[in-house]
Amino acid sequence: MTTTPVTAPLSNRFAAEFPELAVPWRGEETPDPNVLVLNDLLAADLGLDAAALRAPDGVGLLTGTSVPPDATPVAQAYAGHQFGGYSPRLGDGRALLMGELTDREGRLRDLHLKGSGRTPFSRGGDGLAAVGPMLREYVISEAMHALGVPTTRSLAVVATGRDVRRETMLPGAVLARVAGSHLRVGTFQFAASTGDVGLLRRLADHAIERHHPTAASADNPYRALFEAVVEAQADLVARWMLIGFVHGVMNTDNMTISGETIDYGPCAFIEAYDPGAVYSSIDVGGRYAYGNQAAIAQWNLARFAETLLPLIAQDQDTAVELAMESLGRFATRYTATYAAGLQAKLGLPVGLEDAVAVKLGEELLDLLHSNHVDWTSGFRALASAARGDAEPFRGLFVDLAAIDEWLLRWQAVGPDPVAMDRANPIYIPRNHLVEEALDAATGGDLGPVQQLLQVIQRPFEERPGLERYAKPAPDDFGRYTTYCGT
Ligand code: AMP
Ligand code: MG
Repeated sequence: MTTTPVTAPLSNRFAAEFPELAVPWRGEETPDPNVLVLNDLLAADLGLDAAALRAPDGVGLLTGTSVPPDATPVAQAYAGHQFGGYSPRLGDGRALLMGELTDREGRLRDLHLKGSGRTPFSRGGDGLAAVGPMLREYVISEAMHALGVPTTRSLAVVATGRDVRRETMLPGAVLARVAGSHLRVGTFQFAASTGDVGLLRRLADHAIERHHPTAASADNPYRALFEAVVEAQADLVARWMLIGFVHGVMNTDNMTISGETIDYGPCAFIEAYDPGAVYSSIDVGGRYAYGNQAAIAQWNLARFAETLLPLIAQDQDTAVELAMESLGRFATRYTATYAAGLQAKLGLPVGLEDAVAVKLGEELLDLLHSNHVDWTSGFRALASAARGDAEPFRGLFVDLAAIDEWLLRWQAVGPDPVAMDRANPIYIPRNHLVEEALDAATGGDLGPVQQLLQVIQRPFEERPGLERYAKPAPDDFGRYTTYCGT
């Protein structure tokens, strides 16, 4: 193999500006690294040479074992509320920020690794990750991106050649991911807990510059930062809801300041529409259930607001009042984004009276719920009804009288099937397909993962031969359970 040196122009901006939040560190040596998947298009967007990434130095970069000259890989410190309970010190227990890259559009992007070995934040953990869960994050984050949802991206998964101990021994891997940044609500919680308001202000200024630059010119920039994050998160969660995504572990350390989805652990896509849907093995109370996500996002944002109070106003009562008022924007923004998205899913014409649109939407949701209709294929089949063939859609319902009555009123407003096909994906990473592909990969066969990636990268475009990717799980797949910390 020829070795093209990796000239990855990684900056060390976070490491240099926030030594209080960053511990310089390196990835653990990998006995026999092997690139399982590499995202050539994303590499090109980042100005990285994919062939060089596949060569030994590149693989070293993707696993944290070789470091470009100007880079300072660090483990980032953060705190967080996990299932409502506060942990003052979490941090990158199995991850590293390698540094920042400037992409083709001139945006700064973090290159970050997951599964790269123990760090000072590992607590009892081994710092490692298994092939299956890292490929899972790769597949689902790339699907989210293709679905138009803001998200961290996945650049590569490299098998390390070292087994990791879970319930059984599993092949280990490192995921290389890319994000607008890894600033989280938990980063602010950690900074605030130090009592160093200067640090907090620098962090907030950094977040404004990187993600919400218009806040800089507001009368109260830190309140404007808060409002920008409130709106970005309201939009994000509304988008999750529209595609049936359950994040599964919306702890404050898993909520970004950029408004990107982060940390694909116990996440899943719903099948039958059910606001109570929970997949995570540890979420026994349903705190992070599908239908609870907007409420939880607001709860997390209230924790974010608490960290910003000293910057919002000198007087604490005034700061609280201003922050509460700003948090109120969540509901308005969420409702507007969700309503517009649902209207698009229903193909409703622009200019339709709001009350009519809302009623059609709410009634359909009720019918989908009571008839246990698959969210994704239900909406996709509805476009056929707009084209004059209602049978594929009707066939999903038990209560035909109710859905026929609804269909008549919906058809009367002139739904647009072409617009519907742009809003309703036909292919999502369905739970049974993901599991099947990951099982094969863990056993050494990457074919099903590669095929699934091909399918989910064009989620709205129906293609012949892919019928099985559009179908709900077979009945014998059973109840789906996902796990944290894999
Ligand atoms: P998560 O729920 O994946 O966002 O992780 C929560 C916290 O647990 C973070 O601080 C992680 O770095 C840490 N963590 C998760 N898995 C491991 C592991 N295998 N070894 C060390 N730390 C871990
Ligand atoms: Mg996390």
